[in-house]
Parts: sequence; structure tokens; C-alpha cells
Amino acid sequence: MHEELATLDAVAQHDRQLRDLARRIEKAQGVLADMQAAHAAAEALHTERTQAHRELRRAEKAAERKIGLYKQRRQSAIHVLENGLGDTDAAQRQIDQCENILDETETEVLELLEQQESLEALIAEALTGRDEAAATLAEVEQTVPADVAALEAETSTVRAARELEFAKLDPSIQARYTALAARKRVAVVRIERGSCSACQRVVQPQHLADLKRGRVIPCYGCHRWLVPV
Ligand SMILES: [Zn+2]
Repeated sequence: MHEELATLDAVAQHDRQLRDLARRIEKAQGVLADMQAAHAAAEALHTERTQAHRELRRAEKAAERKIGLYKQRRQSAIHVLENGLGDTDAAQRQIDQCENILDETETEVLELLEQQESLEALIAEALTGRDEAAATLAEVEQTVPADVAALEAETSTVRAARELEFAKLDPSIQARYTALAARKRVAVVRIERGSCSACQRVVQPQHLADLKRGRVIPCYGCHRWLVPV
């Protein structure tokens, strides 16, 4: 292959490597970000359930206090009846009313206890989830920065090699390469089975002969530089 074309091809290959490295870095960082988000979500779920449990417990305590209060009221009404003092009809009504409220409130307490119990199972589940997420995150926090550092070191090496090759190119070709790479990402493509491997346009025999002689000629279809096999 003619030297200029070979250099162009080398630059393109380095750029391909650089894009691949950038993708791998992005992916590794994405894994870390995903794990951080998963951990935060697991922690939020645990907090949310724990708070809900605390509220149920508070409601239960309030209901217990209400029960205490109505038991007292019932007791004083019973006292009135037993001693035959005061308004016994009113005392009986008070007892009935207290019984109703006590029934309702005791049912409420039972329901609150049941809700707490099912929530406790969910809290345990959330706790396991949170611990697992924390363990995964810790692992990823250990490996990802090292992986990223290695990929970045490789990137620097490839970039330096790329710049060396790029410097060998004629300035007009450099400018066109940069413009093409910015627009189409891939500036240099191979000819496969007689066609441009990017746009599939057939390369005419004269064009192919010129390329083989080392002329730097773009594809007539997509204007990327062609490299013969
Ligand atoms: Zn093409």
C-alpha cells in the first residue's frame, strides 16, 4: 500500500480504537452510576418502610391510650350503677357507648398489629436488598476506577501513536480527514468485494487501479477515503 494511504489507514484504525476505548470507559462508568442509583433506591425503600412502620406504631399507641380512657369512663359508669347514685339511665348509656368504642378501637389495634407484622417482613426484605446493593456497589467501586484508569492509560498511548501517524499526513489531507471524521465518524473505509464497505457503491476498475498505485481518492458515493484490500 502506498505510504500516505497506509498512514491514513493507520490513523483511522487508531481512531477506531479510541472510539472503542471511549465506549468502554463510558460503559464502566455507567455500571458504577447504575449501582449507585440502585443502592440509593434500596436505601430509600428501607427508610420509607421503616417510617411507615413507625407511623403504625404511633397509631397503635394512640389507640391503646383511647382504650385506657374509655375503660376508665366505663368503670366510673359501672360505679354509678353499682352504688345506685346519680342518673342510672345516663350511666347505662355511657357504658353502652364505651363498649362500642372499645370494640371498635380494639379491632383497630388488631388491624394495626397485623399491618405492622406484614410491614416487618417487607422491612426485612428491604434490608436484605439494601445490604446486597451496598455489597455490589462496594465491589464495583473497587473495580471500576481501576478499570477506567487502565482504559484511560491505553487511550493516552493510542492517542500518542495516532498523533505520530497523523503528523505524517499532508496538511490538506489532515484537514479533510478531520472534517470527514467529524461529519461521518469513519473517514477511511475498506473496499470489500469490489464495493465501498460503508455505502456499498461499486468501485470502478480505473478507480481501483489508481488506488493501487497509491492515489488517495475518496469513494464517489460517500466521499470517505477508500483503502484497497
Ligand atoms: Zn462509500
